[in-house]
Amino acid sequence: MAELKYLKIYSAETDICTLCGTCRTVCPVFLEEGIESSSTRGRISLINGVITDKLNITNDLSEKLQACMNCRKCIEVCPANVNFTDLIIAAKADIHLNNKKYFKVVFLKYLFNSNPTISNFSHKFLRTIRKFLYKKKTDVRSLIGKLIFKLLRLPSTFIIPALPERFFFGMKSRHELVGEQKKRVALFLGCGGKYNYPQSSDHLINILRKSGIEVLIPANQVCCGSPLLDNGNVKLAKSNALKNLKIFNNIQDISAVLVQCSSCSYMLKHQYNNFLGVGKFKTPVVDIMEFIKNEDIDLSPRYTSKVSCHVMLRNHNDINKDNFINDTVSSVYSENFIGDISDDKCCGASELYKTGNYATRKIITHSFLEKYIKKDVGYIACTSFACIHKINEEASLQNKDLKAVSITDIFEV
Ligand code: SF4
Ligand code: SF4
Repeated sequence: MAELKYLKIYSAETDICTLCGTCRTVCPVFLEEGIESSSTRGRISLINGVITDKLNITNDLSEKLQACMNCRKCIEVCPANVNFTDLIIAAKADIHLNNKKYFKVVFLKYLFNSNPTISNFSHKFLRTIRKFLYKKKTDVRSLIGKLIFKLLRLPSTFIIPALPERFFFGMKSRHELVGEQKKRVALFLGCGGKYNYPQSSDHLINILRKSGIEVLIPANQVCCGSPLLDNGNVKLAKSNALKNLKIFNNIQDISAVLVQCSSCSYMLKHQYNNFLGVGKFKTPVVDIMEFIKNEDIDLSPRYTSKVSCHVMLRNHNDINKDNFINDTVSSVYSENFIGDISDDKCCGASELYKTGNYATRKIITHSFLEKYIKKDVGYIACTSFACIHKINEEASLQNKDLKAVSITDIFEV
């Protein structure tokens, strides 16, 4: 029998499920694939099979569970309040314990390491490798790229997230505080904001500092641990969490820890204390949208084309949609803001380097994008770096002149 260290704790959740099937009406994977094992209910049944020793942990079972995109739509509609978020993490953690050779977890272990030197080196290494896999400054694979993709059995249309020449702490320009200091906050960058989209973090800091907000950016902060936890590596996720808690809790006189990515935000706000049990931040963790709205920061539009939004995990991160999207973005962009037309649907992203369940996710992103293309949207303002990458990947494959950007990128400084 497989060792079930984590499922032992969460096994009661499978008994709570009444098998009503309400979750099937919202689960994007089920809606696309139409088979029971692709639904929340189906995954719960698979997990129950493992707990009751009727099923073994096989690669097939592992793939079915990994195909969940963490959109948490099922949780919003579940009448029995099944804690599916923690149940699926527990299942992935036990899969990890019983299947340590899982290649992707090894790759993630270095990329999102709790030692910033290892993490920096791994990102630099990936940046170098990427140069061989793609033609110069494009997302078109080179001959070597095609070969490697084939050898690793990666989906041919998957685009490895680009990594700029300078990561956040290597960027030269830093903006000074303008005027009188109104507030003092610390910024949690996340890997997306540190490595993949440092210019977005820089832009955000510029907006805040020009508005009298002093922003501290601890240089030794590490990945929130979400990609590690999502792939079942609880031990490493814990060590990232402990490191970040120590760093941010040691900063004196800040009123908030600001976060620009929804996935990081959920991890910091909830999972550090809930699943990992390592404690809380002593200052409130605040999503950047809420902060900008509450501080009444003066904003102006950066783009002249039509803008829409895609806010991930808003119901799980206590983000008041009406406050920020329908109020702030709408008033800044007036007739060029066409509302949030995603209808709260998942864009198919899940995480930055996820290649599993690619075919289904690609179809989901394709149909997600259709609405925006029909409405002639120029920019989709996103709250998660993974969504930005996934949407841009599909737009680029379709040759569409539409760009996903970070939610604060749409404002002029
Ligand atoms: S909605 Fe909740 S109770 Fe119903 S089948 Fe899905 S997980 Fe189970
Ligand atoms: S989190 Fe999303 S993808 Fe996963 S089972 Fe729930 S609805 Fe489906």
